[in-house]
Order: sequence, then structure tokens, then C-alpha cells
Amino acid sequence: MASNWTPESWKAHEARHLPVYGDEAKLGEVEATLAKFPPLVFAGEARALKADLAEVAAGRGFLLQGGDCAESFAEFSADNIRDTFRVLLQMAVVLTFASKQPVVKLGRMAGQFAKPRSAPTETIGGVEMPSYFGDIINGIEGNAEARRNDPERMLKAYGQSSATLNLLRAFAHGGYANLRQVHQWTMEHIGRSPWGEQFSQMADRISEALDFMAACGVDPMTVPQLQGTDFYTSHEALLLPYEQALTRRDSLTGDWYDCSAHMLWIGDRTRFEGSAHVEYLRGVGNPIGMKCGPSLEPDALLRMLDTLNPGREPGRMTLISRYGHDKVEAGLPKLVRAVKREGHPVVWSCDPMHGNVIKADSGYKTRPFERILSEVRGFFAVHRAEGTHAGGIHIEMTGQDVTECTGGAIAVTDASLADRYHTHCDPRLNGAQSIELAFEMANLLNL
Ligand code: PEP
Ligand code: MN
Repeated sequence: MASNWTPESWKAHEARHLPVYGDEAKLGEVEATLAKFPPLVFAGEARALKADLAEVAAGRGFLLQGGDCAESFAEFSADNIRDTFRVLLQMAVVLTFASKQPVVKLGRMAGQFAKPRSAPTETIGGVEMPSYFGDIINGIEGNAEARRNDPERMLKAYGQSSATLNLLRAFAHGGYANLRQVHQWTMEHIGRSPWGEQFSQMADRISEALDFMAACGVDPMTVPQLQGTDFYTSHEALLLPYEQALTRRDSLTGDWYDCSAHMLWIGDRTRFEGSAHVEYLRGVGNPIGMKCGPSLEPDALLRMLDTLNPGREPGRMTLISRYGHDKVEAGLPKLVRAVKREGHPVVWSCDPMHGNVIKADSGYKTRPFERILSEVRGFFAVHRAEGTHAGGIHIEMTGQDVTECTGGAIAVTDASLADRYHTHCDPRLNGAQSIELAFEMANLLNL
């Protein structure tokens, strides 16, 4: 167990991007209520994910992590959860079929509410007001009342996370994810993309393989791995009072776990040395992700790995690089080399979203699909050159037919961004763009 650590030892460290709540008494009440609520995930499940990620770290698998930039109270519905889940399933099938390796499925779902922002305030209609920090902290509406930090939002976020997880568990193991359903996962708007046809052809081949197995006397429907799938959840561990309240001691091992999600990650803005967020996560047993942006130097990364994973446990650390399409090939190799030299077992994953945000002429924040693809290609090229395993992808996406990122086979143009721009924070890939990305990655995995 981590030395000199308690679930609240982070409070003695520098905390950036944490909200100030005017009402400390109310905050205390909410924390006490959350501390009594049941855990959302169990320690054993977090360990199962860690074991799966250890396989990926060893080069035997691939991590697919995706979901909203920010979940919201307004967009909470069974259909939205189902649609994101099924696009992730489709992507996973494409990647598994191409790589012939297991794909670990991890949603940015059921808890991805809190957002770090580049500025504490913004000006809306000539009025300066606090920025929006995610529905778990304040409201997105552009008025001072909505923008007030309210601790009670944590209770609503917990409730929504719990219901989301319940549905995800049902989808994963209740029949929906059965591989026999592979044809049914395609949605109408994805079918319109040329990649929808590619998916349908691949689904035919999978169905044939299942028929063949059945004819040989192995009924695929009695094989648990084909009847359902493991699906895990993750979010940025940003709002530490919430994470602390859901921190529980595992009765089996006596170790502490953050029971708000299976995996938690540290954002690029809170991964500095001495940070409260690093202090908190070093003491919980979950698998941990860390964003690695252009400002991270190899020595600092190695010190961070020693702090977060002193025992060098495989599956504990996932390093999520997010350089930008034009910086990845120059910036990433020095980190990869340092980690390899020191023998740290990590999963290297690529976030091709956060270094590729631009402002379109229409004023919308967007990400050109070509740049996203280009960063993924650069990431694979770096790992090929360094002899390391390109182990995963981390994306902001939705199953909905939104128009937030430009480009793709059914091209979203600058002018059409306004049609269905629904995100509460950063622009997401829509369903068709997500499938297209999976097929492009399948090519890279086959090289
Ligand atoms: C995010 O993943 O939504 C995010 C804010 O990323 P980063 O910390 O890499 O900027
Ligand atoms: Mn984001």
C-alpha cells in the first residue's frame, strides 16, 4: 500500500482546476451522503481490467477507450447510451478482426462529468461569468445563476452514473453484445457511409465463421466470450471531493480503490509534480491513465511513473499521448525511449483529439478528421520505429449523427457544423466517423 497516503492526503497538495464552493457546510453534507452510497464498481472488476491491460502492455491486445468529452444531464437517455455502446462494439469488432488480438473496451462513460478549462471565466453576450466546468459542478446555460458551483450536482451525477452503468452492464452481458447480433449493431446513418458497407461485409464473414463452428459441433452460443463482452468505465479523476467520497477499502485485500469507475486518468493540466491529483491517484489500486502532452519531459514522466507505479505493476499505467498531428512524430519518441530504457511496463495509447482542436471560420470549435487520422498514423509510425507496442486509442465520440468534427467519408463541412453541434465541451466524432477511424486503424494494425 502507498506510504503516507490517506483518501484525503491530496488536500495538503497543490490542487488546480478544483471548484471553489461558497457553501462548505453543504459540500460536507454531500460528501457524507456520497460516502454512504454504494460503490459504483468493485475492486475485483478494477483488478480484472488491470489484468487485461497488463496483456496489452505486453503487446498482446489493444485498448479502445471512448465516449463523450463531457457527459451531460440534458443528453442522458437510454438511446444515447445504447448508441455509443454499439459504436464502440462495432469499432472493437473491426479492430479484433484486423489485429487478431483481444480488444479491451473502456467507455469514457458513467462518470465523465468534470472538465478542466483553459480560463476560469468567459464572456457571453458581453457579460463575464465563470466558465462551464461540467454538469457535476455548474450549468452550461449562459447566466450567472447556472454558472454557480453547486455541490448537490454531485448527487445527480452519481445517480446518472449509476443508471448508465446499470444499462451498460445489461448490454454487455444480457444478450445485446452477443456476436450473433453483429449485423444489428449498424445504425441507419452509419449504413450511408461507404464504411457501413465494409462493416456489413466483415459481419458476414464473422457470421460464416460462427456457422462453421456450429457445424463442427461447437455451438458458439455456449461460449461465454461470444455471448457477451467485458465493458469497463473510466473518467478523468478531476473532482477530488467526489472521488474521495467514493474511495473504499476492498474487503478482500485491504487496499483502497476509487469505486467511481474502473479506470481513472489524470489530465494534462493536473499531471504536474506535487499535484493533488497525482497524490490522490497514487494511493488507489485502480488502473491509472495519464495524459502526456508536448510539455512533458522524459525525466518528469519517469518520476511520475515511480510515484504512481513504484512496484512496476503491469496494467497499472496507461500513458495517453496527445501531441497534435504535427508534433507527435517529433515529440513522442523521447518519452517512448525513456520508458523503454527504464523498463516500465505501460500501455501506450493515442488520444488524437486534444492536440487537434481548431476554430472553424463559422466560429465553432472543431477537429478535422484528417488531422485526427494523421496523429494516429504518426503514433503508429513512432512505435514501429521504436520497437514498442502501439497499444490503444482514446477518443471523444458518440453514436449520434452529430456534426462536430469536420471531414470523414460523409463529409461534415465548416458550413454544416451548425446542423447538429450538441457537445457540452469538445467536438466528438460521430458514429460514421468513428467506424471509419476503426477501419483506418485496422489497416495500421495489419502493417
Ligand atoms: C479530456 O480528455 O477531455 C481532456 C481535457 O484532455 P487533456 O487533459 O489531455 O487536455
Ligand atoms: Mn475533451
